[in-house]
Amino acid sequence: MIRPLILVSNDDGISSEGIRVLEEAVSPLGDVYVVAPDQERSAASHALTIHKPLRISQKDARHYALNGTPTDCINFALYVILPRKPDLIVSGINHGSNLADDVTYSGTVSAAFEGSILGIPSLAFSLQIPEDPDRTPHFDSAFLYSRQISTDYLAKPLDSSVLVSVNIPDRSPGDICGVRVTRLGKRLINETNIIRKEDPRGRPYYWIGMGPKDYEPDETSDLHAIDHGYVSITPLHLDLTHYPSLSRLRAMENREIPFADRAGPG
Ligand code: MN
Repeated sequence: MIRPLILVSNDDGISSEGIRVLEEAVSPLGDVYVVAPDQERSAASHALTIHKPLRISQKDARHYALNGTPTDCINFALYVILPRKPDLIVSGINHGSNLADDVTYSGTVSAAFEGSILGIPSLAFSLQIPEDPDRTPHFDSAFLYSRQISTDYLAKPLDSSVLVSVNIPDRSPGDICGVRVTRLGKRLINETNIIRKEDPRGRPYYWIGMGPKDYEPDETSDLHAIDHGYVSITPLHLDLTHYPSLSRLRAMENREIPFADRAGPG
């Protein structure tokens, strides 16, 4: 039997600890290729590079770095690098969780979105990172769960129009309470997270800080699961259509626009 082909990518860059752990986690499951950005591209979202040339730097037979985004990497892997279509794409392990609205900014999740668009079963893995920067992240937990979930998913993937986002809590393997299948939660945004400081010359500069900690109470959400020590598994899809609003907006289809306004401004 032919071994499955597995593509590993991420948004933290090819040299990150998380992608090394993920590659090791899935290596017994098939032939593994790594195609990832040459530097950190966190919060790259689903960006595609169209205004600069892209170059592939081959590290060895199975490792390639690209001076582009996670979405670029998935496209290059599929159409330039891999010998055939992969059976599974895994993205991560991201240094930091991707919960609730985070998935729309996340390069890690977007790599899986791109895989899904291109018809490949895709998983995104993100690890909650300790608030104290001196504490080591629990890549041991991420390793175990990414291996198990990838094994199960490879054997029985969902339709490729669905991708799956997995978040692992900041706990050692023995302290993880289990696995919860969740929906995206909702954070309570009540104040700005844009921080203003002054540079040595007295001019202002800004940092975008961390998102709010509070969230809408919902025991089925990803935020709740991670907060309570569970691994969170959320199925996602790219059809952003809000179906209940279709009929309400249809009134616009028949709305008469006065002829004089049709020429537009000016
Ligand atoms: Mn990242």
